[in-house]
Amino acid sequence: MESTRGTTGEAAGTPDGAEPPRAAGSTWAAESTWGTEPARATGPAMPRAGAGGANLLALRSHNTALVLDLLRTAGAAGISRLELAERTGLTPQAVSKITARLRADGFVAEAGRRASTGGKPATALRLVPEAGLAVGLHLDRDELRAVLVDLTGAVRAEHRAPLDLGAGQDAVVEEAVRAARTLSDGWAPEAVLGVGAAVPGPLDHRSGVLHRVTGFPEWDGFPLRDVLARRLRLPVVVDKDTNAAALGLAVTGSGAESFAYLHLGTGLGAGLVFGGSVHRGARTGAGEFGHQVVQMDGPPCGCGGRGCIEALCLAAVERGDLEGAARTLGVGAANLVALLDIDLVLLGGRTVARAPEPFVRGVREVVGARASWDVPVRIAAGGVAEGAAQLLLAPVFGRGVG
Ligand SMILES: [Zn+2]
Repeated sequence: MESTRGTTGEAAGTPDGAEPPRAAGSTWAAESTWGTEPARATGPAMPRAGAGGANLLALRSHNTALVLDLLRTAGAAGISRLELAERTGLTPQAVSKITARLRADGFVAEAGRRASTGGKPATALRLVPEAGLAVGLHLDRDELRAVLVDLTGAVRAEHRAPLDLGAGQDAVVEEAVRAARTLSDGWAPEAVLGVGAAVPGPLDHRSGVLHRVTGFPEWDGFPLRDVLARRLRLPVVVDKDTNAAALGLAVTGSGAESFAYLHLGTGLGAGLVFGGSVHRGARTGAGEFGHQVVQMDGPPCGCGGRGCIEALCLAAVERGDLEGAARTLGVGAANLVALLDIDLVLLGGRTVARAPEPFVRGVREVVGARASWDVPVRIAAGGVAEGAAQLLLAPVFGRGVG
């Protein structure tokens, strides 16, 4: 696998005729810019010494991120240097310097000329989508879904396979490694920025170490980030499935600055976004929505407690009472809205996806009856795996970084 990587540059995926990225390192042994990056507690694991793709992250500065984000949102039509200067507040000279560097590294290309008021036509610049790619892995309790996402957030390839989170660490890691390699194979190695892995919590996002996943206590203490990074020789970021999904929604535009993403799949959790950034808390403990007790003498829950909202919801789903499950979810959502002054509630996860209508209706009814302002309740447009890829991509654009 590794031996083929250095020779796949020609197949670097330029289906729309875009110029391939020209990054410095073409082999794993190449001189890297990673070494010049200061260590960051929340950064991805960086086990390898040579990756041209790291160039994009190393280029990262506040101003470069601003420019890249405007290029991203401008789409294929592009944006002129003058507009970039106006919208960032940077001087035209500063913008020219930044865009020249991004062009030299293959991240930006010309998008044609556009009329400008009073002067000669300005050259529009656009982002080269495939210049930066990230793999997003969603390791769920019974399924693995993986995607390869480009700089614009578009999914370029997808992989889905059954997974048993209880099958042992070696087997699960092997599946994850295989999926990441399958998806990134054939693309220029220097374009692949890394891998984001989303897993049911609890876990520590900073260290990438899992805690006692409900129902799978054997994962407690497992350093998933470092293990995957060592195997894949790529930067890896680990986060809770709910946080990853919420980040993806925050980056690709949910229409709200502050929202709660409620995920009902094999478990129930929440991702919280305030001011465009995911709120994780100091211990990645925020969003443990499913284990709030709503019935003191309720049925036992997998977490060891009783009457947790997750246990009540899953039990209602089990007996086919989707209305009941939706109302229970609505009670929790209304509590969140009241507690945190939230603008929007987004629903996701496989259980919701199977029957979106009753869930949206039920949650909307309860939230509407309890909130004193209008809180829209919608189905989330985006999955956990896509959000996991944004763990690598979003920081390039200065997005989702609190
Ligand atoms: Zn519980």
